[in-house]
Amino acid sequence: MHDLREDRDSVSTYECLRCGELVTTDTRPDACPNCGQTGSYRNRAMSLE
Ligand SMILES: [Zn+2]
Repeated sequence: MHDLREDRDSVSTYECLRCGELVTTDTRPDACPNCGQTGSYRNRAMSLE
């Protein structure tokens, strides 16, 4: 068994809806590191697949 997959699944890419900045993290970002916008993140994984 490979437990690496579980580790990868916990990381998601979020896209800032304001500036388009992409942030890959295991937790939902509170604020965009680029523009500082808060609460405007979309999980890219949902629309990619
Ligand atoms: Zn942003």
